[in-house]
Amino acid sequence: MKDKLESALAKGRKAAATGKVADYIPELGKADPNALAVACCDMDGQITAAGDTETTITIQSISKVVSLALSMIDCGEKKVFSAVGVDPTADPFNSIMRLEMRAPHRPQNPLINAGAIVVLSLLPYRDSLSRYEAVLDLTKKLCSNHSISSNEAVYLSEKATSDRNRSLAYFLRSVGSLEGDIEDILDSYFHQCAIACTVRDLAVMGATLANSGVNPVSGERVLSPRIALTLRALMAICGLYDGSGEFALRVGIPAKSGVGGGIMASAPGNMGLATVGPSLDPKGNSTGGVRVMEILSDQLGLRVL
Ligand code: GLU
Repeated sequence: MKDKLESALAKGRKAAATGKVADYIPELGKADPNALAVACCDMDGQITAAGDTETTITIQSISKVVSLALSMIDCGEKKVFSAVGVDPTADPFNSIMRLEMRAPHRPQNPLINAGAIVVLSLLPYRDSLSRYEAVLDLTKKLCSNHSISSNEAVYLSEKATSDRNRSLAYFLRSVGSLEGDIEDILDSYFHQCAIACTVRDLAVMGATLANSGVNPVSGERVLSPRIALTLRALMAICGLYDGSGEFALRVGIPAKSGVGGGIMASAPGNMGLATVGPSLDPKGNSTGGVRVMEILSDQLGLRVL
């Protein structure tokens, strides 16, 4: 397995060179564009990793999977999916356009920014910090790593600059699709996006989803089979923003990307697969990561779509 990962990684480095690090959150612009790592975790909890495995990235949009899982645990699917839809969108992750154009003005799915902000608003916690801590706690269980924390510099950098997410949230409130203290909800959103993980952490998270909610490293049941399945289905149709269709054709497994450069993928009953590579394509997906996953999905027979 290690040889296969190394060889995919060598090919992926060429693709990584074609991307660009996200810098619309100033602190993300400091990432190493050449870093690339891959890891897999099988259903026995065996982890294999290659490349720049010590690189830590902020999980950004991958955190939307965690907060969605938490909302389903705390509020139930019915409440969650009456506040946000379950359909893919061909628009960028932070687009405001469709929210205004069509009634009901609710976000089309929970994995775009507007949807993730609404999901956070449903959580029954006192304030931003307790909401964030609940998401962090679930992240630790999904990854079987209790030392995970957030990158405070990235959190503060996004908080200081995120006019777009503020616009989305205030617009949602103006059409009655979001209730509560907007700045407090946004604060927990920025904080959860800044949770910092390695490629191994993300591979274990993918494996927990692939193993119907039981973490194969710790043996702990973290999610119900139903929630794990719902997350995988949503990742399959909208996990890579407006690049989800292309990813389905090239790689064919449920996955979620983030603008920090991570991709967390879940091959059901088989393995979690993750890549870290901060160079992104124009849609916000890791160029090297997608290429590595494409090669490995083919070689390891992971495709399910
Ligand atoms: N914190 C990022 C934002 O809201 C997350 C975007 C992403 O990873 O897609 O812009």
